[in-house]
Amino acid sequence: MNQLPASIGLYLHIPFCTRICHYCDFVKTARFTANDPTSYLQILQQYAETWLPLIAQESPGGLEVRTLFFGGGTPSLLDAAYQPLMESLRPWLRKDAEISLEANPEHVTQERLAIWAGLGINRLSLGAQSFQARGLKFLTREHSPEKARDAVRMATAIIPNVNIDLIYGWQDQDLSDWERDLAEATALDIQHLSLYTLTYEGRTPMARMHRRGVLEALPDDRLESMYLMACQTLRDQGWAHEEVSNWHKPGFASVHNSIYWHSGSYLGLGNGSHSFLDGYGGPWGTRWSQDPNLRWLQEGQKILNDASSLDAIFNMPGVHRETARAAPEWLLEVVSSGIRTIQGINVNAICVKTGYNFRPRPSIEQALRQGLMCLGPDGSLTLREEEWYRETGWALEASLSFVAP
Ligand code: SF4
Repeated sequence: MNQLPASIGLYLHIPFCTRICHYCDFVKTARFTANDPTSYLQILQQYAETWLPLIAQESPGGLEVRTLFFGGGTPSLLDAAYQPLMESLRPWLRKDAEISLEANPEHVTQERLAIWAGLGINRLSLGAQSFQARGLKFLTREHSPEKARDAVRMATAIIPNVNIDLIYGWQDQDLSDWERDLAEATALDIQHLSLYTLTYEGRTPMARMHRRGVLEALPDDRLESMYLMACQTLRDQGWAHEEVSNWHKPGFASVHNSIYWHSGSYLGLGNGSHSFLDGYGGPWGTRWSQDPNLRWLQEGQKILNDASSLDAIFNMPGVHRETARAAPEWLLEVVSSGIRTIQGINVNAICVKTGYNFRPRPSIEQALRQGLMCLGPDGSLTLREEEWYRETGWALEASLSFVAP
């Protein structure tokens, strides 16, 4: 029997960009015509109006959307065009729902901010990426440092919760560059900071240049020093470190992201989006993704009205359901995403759910002895923030410490 939760996060993917940044591995397109975004939003609305009631049918306690996140791509290309979609989602939204929109600084104007705020957007995530002209040039961003500062100042005057994204690790960046970026960001009246390491991934132009040896990644010890500098600087200023890449001022933890970090349920709509429903289809939940190709979203739209149960979603064109889910997959997900957060993972809860025993591997025992890890009386296993930087290795060691009876 399915035991669906009463509240979920909702992610809406807006794939349009005016140009492509050379490091970006997200699902996006710079090839679109003026009418495409509006008709795309209509398609998303149709999907939401079909899938949310299907999920609600399976949720005995009712269903409410706790967080709504417009991500991309570039959601800040649009403003009043979101009105019909927002009106359609309104009945599902919790009164205190966190409603976030990702924005590029070059799109932020007083008028747009007023429209977004009027639609109910109460959190803006600004892709500043750097306040250094060299950094922005390397990252092939369209905005200038001045525009980034202006956008943040305008946003903080209107939107109650503003996040800045910064990227560190661009070519030739040294510790003093990073110190300046951190100082600029924290001098602004923002509530949340996301600091990401530049990675050369997938089929991006930068990844190709990296593979050809044209671009060199910064040495790992410099990246680690940058991470530790951020930890120290932000700790000294009273910021709370919630996850390896995320910090907040008191009272402004990211609700939507914490759903991902703690294996909560979320529905993703749009091309390339991902979804997870805890408790659906068995104890390990159900994961699925929507094909990145926009064509499949349009194909699915034609038969949306035929979907009469949640299972029908998984037969729709372009929907890829992860089938072979069992305890080991679930365990690795829970440990990998939880171990890099301030809450860590709960060993007791994992053992109860999986039936496994916790037998710490030697590396985990040593980490506990050295104080790099802590096992609390309530069963919470947490990693010191300095070690979050090496999260992948620790996640593997911790997950291998759970053994089947
Ligand atoms: S980083 Fe943002 S604006 Fe740049 S290509 Fe990627 S999604 Fe588009």
